[in-house]
Amino acid sequence: MHAANHAITALAIKKIAPTAPLIPLLVSVQAAELLWVGFHFVGWEWSRVDSPMNSIANVHFEHMPWSHSIFAGIILALLFAALGAALWKQWTVAAALAVGAFSHVALDLLLHAPDIAVAPFLDMPKLGLGPYGSAPALAFVLEIAFGLAIWRLIGGGKWLLGLLVLFNAVGVTFYLPQLHGGEVALAGQPMQMVTFVALQIVLTLPLTYFFAPRWMRRRA
Ligand SMILES: [Zn+2]
Repeated sequence: MHAANHAITALAIKKIAPTAPLIPLLVSVQAAELLWVGFHFVGWEWSRVDSPMNSIANVHFEHMPWSHSIFAGIILALLFAALGAALWKQWTVAAALAVGAFSHVALDLLLHAPDIAVAPFLDMPKLGLGPYGSAPALAFVLEIAFGLAIWRLIGGGKWLLGLLVLFNAVGVTFYLPQLHGGEVALAGQPMQMVTFVALQIVLTLPLTYFFAPRWMRRRA
């Protein structure tokens, strides 16, 4: 899922659990992706990008069980829950951070081609409902609908809407094979794709923080 849509998930959790601190929530929803970036740079996980590269269907997340698997999602959720319990001493904070951490792999499961393992070392079929591989245009519609639904749910302002629309729109050529944009430069260059994803995380997390409804940025 696009970085902007993962990031706004943190605001939905904040709306439901207002005492959960926003910055840790924002980190929790992208923890899996941050690990994925790091693990690609050290070679523990890898991806392949076809050449030519026309859409997200040409990206193959070949090996990412340490950042993106059901098992990794549960471990991350437990770690974030422990952090929440230790630092904030509130089960609602612990639960909110755990939901944030697990939301990442849960949302990716809805969109990814079957490339999400159950657990590292486990020889089982990989999971993913598939629109990234089989119907990227549908994935685009689902993603933007998801982002807008959360924007409405939380009573977001126009800057947050602008952020969502802009980042999703910039990414549109990744979803529509007929449209060509920046994605063609990533053909056969998986590490450039990883860097591109890292850049999107680094931009969308702070911007989502600053454009979140004002009350969410106050200390609970
Ligand atoms: Zn992901």
